[in-house]
Amino acid sequence: MGIVVQKYGGSSVADAEAVKRVARRIVEAKKAGNDVVVAVSAMGDTTDDLLEKAQAVSPLPPARELDMLLTAGERISMALVAMAISDLGYSARSFTGSQAGVITDSVHGKAKIIDVTPGRITTALEEGHIVIVAGFQGVSQDTKEITTLGRGGTDTTAVALAAALQADVCEIYTDVDGVFTADPRIVPTARKLDRVTYEEMLEMAANGAKILHLRCVEYARRFNIPIHVRSSFSKLDGTIVSGSIDDPAPEEGTMEQAIIAGVAHDRSEAKITVTGVPDKIGEAARIFVALAEAQINLDMIVQNVSEAATNRTDISFTLPHTDGQTAMKTLAALKDEIGFESLLYDDRVGKVSLIGAGMRSHPGVTAKFFSAIAEAGVNLGMISTSEIRISVVVADVDVDAAVIATHTAFDLDADDVEAVVYGGTGR
Ligand code: ADP
Ligand code: ASP
Ligand code: MG
Repeated sequence: MGIVVQKYGGSSVADAEAVKRVARRIVEAKKAGNDVVVAVSAMGDTTDDLLEKAQAVSPLPPARELDMLLTAGERISMALVAMAISDLGYSARSFTGSQAGVITDSVHGKAKIIDVTPGRITTALEEGHIVIVAGFQGVSQDTKEITTLGRGGTDTTAVALAAALQADVCEIYTDVDGVFTADPRIVPTARKLDRVTYEEMLEMAANGAKILHLRCVEYARRFNIPIHVRSSFSKLDGTIVSGSIDDPAPEEGTMEQAIIAGVAHDRSEAKITVTGVPDKIGEAARIFVALAEAQINLDMIVQNVSEAATNRTDISFTLPHTDGQTAMKTLAALKDEIGFESLLYDDRVGKVSLIGAGMRSHPGVTAKFFSAIAEAGVNLGMISTSEIRISVVVADVDVDAAVIATHTAFDLDADDVEAVVYGGTGR
């Protein structure tokens, strides 16, 4: 008898009907002879609603209390799903992240899972129960406080449980039929991928494709857990995330690796430009050391060549816009010390990324990408690349047009079916 780990996202448990539908699906897996462990998200937009409630009483709530509040969302779902299962004549036990043995570091709001000790889960399975675990939360090893894993973190809970329980597969149930070549909410002609490698999925998740939480993909890759991303609203097979871009093709010569896996977009970043930085050794280091000390993660960085007349240069970088104000304050405090001219802040930007392992061996991908964006009348800002990705910053209003044009230019459109979005608000 195998262990199956399933995860149901917020739109899959949005209301009572949805909870009952999910309970039936869980029971089916149990009836098929499996031990079943389920990670659940908060219902619908509950997490956003809780964040708004916090804002209403305090503009900057203490991180510990915010985590206490947010974990309540998943606790509601876990109990309701367990009740709906018991109504079907099966027995289920719900556990908070802490009870389930999800041990994290102590960083509130974006804690990392450092261990899973699933003693209570295995005991409950041995007693014949279906186990329901509240996603997105754990308990800190050092402080013993309750933590959350960051938005979308229930995906990571599921994969961590799958790894700890040595499950054969981790099924992520969501509101679309799998991982598509672009977000189907923007590109209805996007095509479902049958399979995608860990590396390509990592790049997609890191560049805004919120279908999977970035750390869930990192975790799955580290423990070699295949992820099956599929819809909780249909019976269709979804997308298998597994394997590496460096694996040999299954049958040499029969199947050519696709050049492009997909187009991702991200509207969660802002751009800061530090103008007129004196072109001296150590100035860039001073800027970025200060930002690192403020715990800010940067994405793209561009430094222009300095102007001969002034010997000064501009440095631009992107960062999560939630860190924008902290970064501006940190840098403003360095103005006299570094002697730069000014700071510019722009949060009306978006990032469009083209991802695919095949671009390593196909020349002309960048040229085609930039031409497609130009033909759509969109101006390019910053550019960055990795081995299997090219990203550009554009104005936020141009993101959709750039994604659609790129998707078409690389022949990614499906010719027969339109992608279905079954639920969710896309929030
Ligand atoms: P859940 O609540 O199930 O965790 P999410 O809203 O976090 O669901 O993720 C699913 C959403 O991810 C889809 O509804 C879709 O809009 C979005 N998405 C973004 N990029 C992609 C992609 N490449 N393929 C599929 N969905 C994507
Ligand atoms: N409820 C959390 C969120 O909305 C975690 C999750 O759904 O994965 O981000
Ligand atoms: Mg999600």
